[in-house]
Amino acid sequence: MGLVSPAMGQPSRFKAFLVDVDGVLVKGGEPIPGAREALSELKRMGDVVILTNNSTRSRARTAELLQALRFPIEPEEVVTSSYIAARWLLERAGPSRVWIIGEEGLSEELKLAGHTLVPPQEAEWIVVGMDRTLTYAKLADALRALLSGARLLATNRDRTFPTPEGLIPGAGATVGAIEGMGFSPEAVVGKPSPTAFEIALRVAGAAPEETIMIGDRWETDIQGAKRAGLATALVLSGVSSATELSHLDPPPDLVAEDIGRLVRLLTERAR
Ligand SMILES: [Mg+2]
Repeated sequence: MGLVSPAMGQPSRFKAFLVDVDGVLVKGGEPIPGAREALSELKRMGDVVILTNNSTRSRARTAELLQALRFPIEPEEVVTSSYIAARWLLERAGPSRVWIIGEEGLSEELKLAGHTLVPPQEAEWIVVGMDRTLTYAKLADALRALLSGARLLATNRDRTFPTPEGLIPGAGATVGAIEGMGFSPEAVVGKPSPTAFEIALRVAGAAPEETIMIGDRWETDIQGAKRAGLATALVLSGVSSATELSHLDPPPDLVAEDIGRLVRLLTERAR
């Protein structure tokens, strides 16, 4: 498995690398073989920013978990959908009174960005993400707040989330439950949204045309990055498989079995 397209018009060297976590660096709670070495090599070649739709963790906690698996990553090199939601809200509406349906990482990033967490009846915004303690009572609170004029923001709508025990419902389950009550989010900011890539590029300090997104899920990682003007690399160590390749439109610029093999390809191109 090598180059799928000649990647015409792309630089032979990229300045920045946006790297997804699940299915690229980690699978079933374990590092993917060769991923640690590949990440170190990417850091020698340019700036690395981890870009994950996981809204349950803050940047700091994501870095901590990656460090525990011995990936060389610092919190300021991580962009999560919880961080993206907090920044988006700050830029659009200023510091806001928010209530969440989500987990620790979402509330942490909202507070760090200067927002105030309040009970649902006092919320200007409801920010929703993946929530493993989602209940009917939370949905009822959300409904009352929305009927009273609260606005709705979602971190992402990934349908499922991979764990060592198999797939569990993702943020899409929360968004879907609220949409089922007749309310749609004003924005869904995680991948594939352009907002996700804008914020990750800002953190990387790089322009789209000098950056490549490395991911395992075509619908979010590849489609979103292409629309944002980035080069893309699909690795087959996660959810997308080799049999799907001929159906993918737009196709990724590069395809490799895993990030280790991808980095070898990139190194050869840079020579
Ligand atoms: Mg992934």
